[in-house]
Amino acid sequence: MQLAGKRAIVTGSNSGIGLGIARELARAGADVVLNSYTDDAEDHALAREIAAETGVPVRYIQADMSKGDQCRALIEQAGGCDILVNNAGIQHVAKLEEFPGDKWDAIIAINMSSAFHTSAAALPGMYAQGWGRIVNIASAHGLTASPFKSAYVTAKHGVVGLTKTTALEAAGKGVTCNAICPGYVLTPIVEKQIPDQMKAHDMDRETVIKEVMLARQPSGEFATVEQMGGTAVFLCSDAAAQITGTTISVDGGWTAL
Ligand code: NAD
Repeated sequence: MQLAGKRAIVTGSNSGIGLGIARELARAGADVVLNSYTDDAEDHALAREIAAETGVPVRYIQADMSKGDQCRALIEQAGGCDILVNNAGIQHVAKLEEFPGDKWDAIIAINMSSAFHTSAAALPGMYAQGWGRIVNIASAHGLTASPFKSAYVTAKHGVVGLTKTTALEAAGKGVTCNAICPGYVLTPIVEKQIPDQMKAHDMDRETVIKEVMLARQPSGEFATVEQMGGTAVFLCSDAAAQITGTTISVDGGWTAL
């Protein structure tokens, strides 16, 4: 098992891409800490389920990634980590002039600043042991823009900038930092956008998915959480030791257009 003995923390991992990545890291042998802002029985049950399925220790630690001190406390409570996946994220879609200030602040905090706080808390331990992997989940929207997603596009471009800076500071210390840029993956964050898009375009679900959502994804298919997990595992492997400060698009060709 290529990641046996490695300790991984995945932020925002009780659903969607984070959960998919946590599962693949556990399947590759890493101990995993799941996280979200809730502290429900289901969250802890999820950790037990992945542990039972993979045979590695899996814990759930509640921490709100909109709060810098809780981001740092997550790393401390986990006892540090070898692999940090910054994945927590939310979305809000509105015209810039109507974009609610509180939504802007929340998206910047959860989607971007949390990665700064967790990385700052995790890096000293990684430097001390001479090995570490930081994988930031950015987006095709970290490389390109779409209208009505000002906060999200800003935050994801920021994550790509943070990725490059982290990589440069960590270079030569056995620590890499890269960003995965997914295109559309059918998770709750995307599922929630479908009814609004159906209304806005006066289309049924299948037509909205094909002609609006996947219009920019040349493959015409959603990417999957398993593919995100597999990419994260690869970035943690020895084969990727010299890959740092870059982005890997898993977007069905979106950013090649
Ligand atoms: P999701 O809604 O299923 O998952 C988001 C996760 O973040 C959940 O586990 C949620 O509990 C957690 N979260 C939200 N607010 C939090 C907070 N304050 N503190 C801690 N955790 C919090 O959506 P997803 O699609 O799995 O998104 C995961 C990441 O992937 C996000 O950063 C998102 O921007 C990015 N992404 C998603 C897509 C896509 O098409 N689904 C595309 C590109 C990038």
